[in-house]
Parts: sequence; C-alpha cells; structure tokens
Amino acid sequence: MLFGYHGNYLRIDVTSGRAERVPLPEAVLRQYIGGSGLGARLLLDEGGAVADPLSPEAPLIFVFSPLVGSPLTTSAKFAVVSRSPLTQRFNDSLASSGFAMAGKRCGCDAIVIVGRARSWSVLIVDEGEIRLEPADEVLGAPCHVAEEKLRARLGADYRIASIGPAGERAILYATISHDGRHAGRGGSGAVLGSKNIKAIAVRGTQRCEWAQPQALTELSRDLSKRSFGPATAKYRELGTATNLLTFNRFGALPTRNFQSGTFEEAVTLSPEQLSVEHKRTRASCVACTIGCEHIYALAEPVSSTSEPGQDGTSRKRDRKRGVRLEYESMFALGSLCGVGDGEAVLRASQRCDELGIDTISTGGTIAFAMECVERGLLDEPWLAFGSGEAVLRAIDLIGRREGVGQLLAEGSRRAAQMIGQGSIAFAPQVKGLEIPGYEPRALQTMALGFAVGARGADHNRSGAYEVDFSNKVDRRHATLDSVRHAIDTEDRAALMDSLILCKFLRGVFSDFNAETAEMLRAVTGWDVTADELHDTARRIVATKRQVNLLAGWTPEEDTLPERFLDVPLPNDPAASLTRERLQELVSEYHRQRGW
Ligand code: SF4
Repeated sequence: MLFGYHGNYLRIDVTSGRAERVPLPEAVLRQYIGGSGLGARLLLDEGGAVADPLSPEAPLIFVFSPLVGSPLTTSAKFAVVSRSPLTQRFNDSLASSGFAMAGKRCGCDAIVIVGRARSWSVLIVDEGEIRLEPADEVLGAPCHVAEEKLRARLGADYRIASIGPAGERAILYATISHDGRHAGRGGSGAVLGSKNIKAIAVRGTQRCEWAQPQALTELSRDLSKRSFGPATAKYRELGTATNLLTFNRFGALPTRNFQSGTFEEAVTLSPEQLSVEHKRTRASCVACTIGCEHIYALAEPVSSTSEPGQDGTSRKRDRKRGVRLEYESMFALGSLCGVGDGEAVLRASQRCDELGIDTISTGGTIAFAMECVERGLLDEPWLAFGSGEAVLRAIDLIGRREGVGQLLAEGSRRAAQMIGQGSIAFAPQVKGLEIPGYEPRALQTMALGFAVGARGADHNRSGAYEVDFSNKVDRRHATLDSVRHAIDTEDRAALMDSLILCKFLRGVFSDFNAETAEMLRAVTGWDVTADELHDTARRIVATKRQVNLLAGWTPEEDTLPERFLDVPLPNDPAASLTRERLQELVSEYHRQRGW
C-alpha cells in the first residue's frame, strides 16, 4: 500500500475533453518525491522538453507532493512545471494554499494538461471527473475576480487557479494565480492561456493515509513550535520587504536597471516607512504557522494614467482589498525603475497581480526600456527612471499589448533582440529570465547561482546569497570555494520544492536532510535516509538540466549579461566580477556536478 500518494497522475487532453489516470510507480515517486522533482520527470516523459511551450502538444503540469494534506506546517503547496515560453528552458513555479489540498484530494499526485480547447474554457476536475465549461463570464477578468465568480458559480468547495488578462494575451511572463498567490516566474500563465483555459477548478474528498500517523503528529507539532522561533521572526515582523534597507546598506540593492547598488530613496520606499503611511495587516497561506504576508491598504490613487481595469475593476474595491507586498516586487517596481514613491509601487504591484504578470520580469523589462530611452535607443520620452506614473502606464500598456507594451510583453531579452544596438549587454536577464533583487557584483556566490540556474536567474532555486551574507566567503571576491556552497543551496532548494516545504522555514532546521528524511519516513513508510535525500536532490537538479539539454541548452547560456562582467559596481568599485572569474566558477560548478 502507498502512503502519502495516490500513485497516479491525471492526464487531461483539453482538445478532446478526455482524461486518463496514468500509474506512477513507487520507485519513480521515491526518486523524484513530488513538486518540482516529479514535475521535471513528468515533463521529460510527456515530451515537454522539445515541444513549443505554447503549442497544443506542450504539457502543463500541476504537481502536488507527499506532504500536502499532512499537518506539517507550510506544506500546502503545488508546483506548476512546463517548458517556459519566456526562456524556452525548464520552468517550475510554486504557489500555495487550498488548491494544492483540493487538487490532491481529486485522487492524483499531479494533473497533466495537454491540447487546446476549441474556445475559452474553465477546466473542472470534480473528484476526478473532468468537464469543460465556457469561460465567457470570466474572460478578461483579473485573477481574483475570476476566482470569486467561479466559486460563486461552481460552489464554495472548489479551489481555483486562474490566469488574468495577461495569460489570455500570451504575455510571456504571465502567472497562474490562486488565492492571491502566484505561480509567478517563467510564463506558466501564457502556457495555460495557449490551451484556451482561463481557469482550473478542483474539488475532491480522497485523502491519503500516513504510514506513521503518531510520529507525523509529533514531528508536525515540533516543526510548528520551531516555526515560531527567531529563524522566522523577520517574515512575521515585516516580511521579505525587510531586505530592502539591508540590501541597500550592503550596496546590493539593484537600482536603475543595475546601474547602481544603492538607492537614495530606499528609506521612503522601505516597509518601515510604508507601515507609517499605510495600514498594514498580516495574512498567511493555508496550513502555515509563520504568516509572512503583509498586506498594505492603498491611499487615494496618485496617478491619472493608472486606469481601472478593462473589466470594470473599481478603485474603490482596489483600496478595500489592499496589496500584498514582497521585497521582490518593491525592488523590481521601485528601486530598479528608480521609483521611491511607495504608493506608486503598491499600485503597480496590485496592477501586476490583477493582470497576472510576474512583478520581477515586469519591473526588469520596464527598467531595461527606461535605460534604452535614456540612451536614445527607444523613442518613448515619458518612460523615464524615477517616474511612478511611467511604471503604471507601462504596466497598463503591457497588459493590453498596446504601443511599446507589445515590445515589453516579450520580456527584456526579446525586447533587446528587437531593439538591437548592443542593448542585450544591459538587458537584466539570464536565459531570458529577469534577474531578481540581488546585485551580482556585490553578491558573487549568488552571481554563480544565477548563471547556472536551470530556469535562469533565480533566487528561489539557488539560495547562494545566504552564503554571501555569511562569513564563509568574501561576497565581493568569489573563489572556487564558493562553488560547493552554491551547489549545497541549490540542492536544498530542489528538495524543498519537491517535498514541498516553504523556503521561509529553512532556518529552523539544523540538519535539513536528516530532519526531512524523518518526515518523509513518517509520511511514506520508506526507510529513506539523509544520504538518500542528498542523492535525490542531485538527481532532481540533473533532471532539470536534462530537460534543458533536450530544449537546446548550450554552455554559453550559463553566464551573466556583459554589464556585470565588464563594469565594476559604480557605488562599490571593489565589487567587480570579470568574465574570466565567472567562467572559472561556472566550469568548477560543472566539474563538481559531474557534467
Ligand atoms: S511563510 Fe509565507 S509563503 Fe510560506 S507558507 Fe507561510 S504564509 Fe505562505
């Protein structure tokens, strides 16, 4: 008997409306666990490494995990795996909450969607029974409106993941949203949209059994207790936004498209200041004892160019809902665009959530365009660093694919290819994915993590910045010693994303592999050990690479834009990362991986 799993995945062809249950052998589950790991395996098996990501043949995979539904804190998560339309490489994005639990209760460990519905539809998975219904009522609606309307129509026991207008218009960094959270990076929303599916609604009653319920209860109690401790205090107090002033102090806060690592208006943008000017409340994902979400109430609109959504979204409702703000959105829509107006950044973040677009890619692409304007490569004089109104207007244009928005909807790499004139040198991306809020020259172990990441520049798949902020390395002069640390954080992330546990829990573990092996033993009954999990992590990272190799990866992709290799960081000239040094690090990384 299988514990913690159902032992199958649901394969749905939305062209025909037919579904089948495909058995998942226990050996495969043990080798890949769930989430990102199992998703990578299924993507290979389903031919997703070679299919055009926006073609009907391309699989889009929602993957649950053995821990979903268990009492372990922060485990209500799911992964969305596909080939990315933005990078053309492997993509896995994770989101939280009731969708994971309801999806798994449909009696499957993953849902694979292929095909293209004849017209815009809602895919309904009701206890494993499949049907497609017309999406006319929610077409054009922001993610949260679509979710509300569909629950009102289908029943409150459904959990719904939806795309916004951006996914409908194939914006290459469109998200899939559920309950205010987004499977955000790499454009999975465009993939779902390419199948003419506006939303997927799930409900079910099939629960998995646990191998050692008593042991699991005790482990869960202990983990919850530790989750209240100092390792997670920062998330409870101000959330990830607390990074803003810290990074600014370290000269590592990307500013004006990575032309500086410090931002003179960081204080006005900081959560400390925003909390004075805006009412702030806390929230959490389902089954989480940390509660890292900080929701800011909006003041009156400050921008005459920020129009209400085409769907009729009113400003009144916007103010009532408030805005969930993370560091990555603050940096990308704030300092990266030179904007110190907190209200404008809140509003920009809200607009991204409604459209269903990744805030990092949105901010990165707009900041890139602003630098193009500054250099005379793009004739959009309103698109200037420092203007919150310009950011809001650019987001609206992207959402409608109008004017310069048509160009920016393609992301910074493609935009640079179209603009030409050497602009690719400062397009802030790796493999096409916009770089998160960590200045690579000031954080050089992270620079390596960005360069080699399977899905491109990514702070969630490599936690190498933690090494830079420790005393293990000199963050401004990476040496070959940095490589094993970068590998360790990448391996840990691969496991966390497969088990799945929230990354914000990582600080509570003293021996991550040993402690999570114990949890997996209690859930599955397998005699899994820390050493086995070490090998599993390596296997998962290697499988993502295998997807990339089939998708056309070449060694030249494991690098950073020229800006970071040719120009020392202006505010900190000692922070310089040469082409030769990065190449040495990357080669050593490949050697230690055995590639
Ligand atoms: S710590 Fe935050 S992101 Fe993680 S599960 Fe809890 S609320 Fe969700």
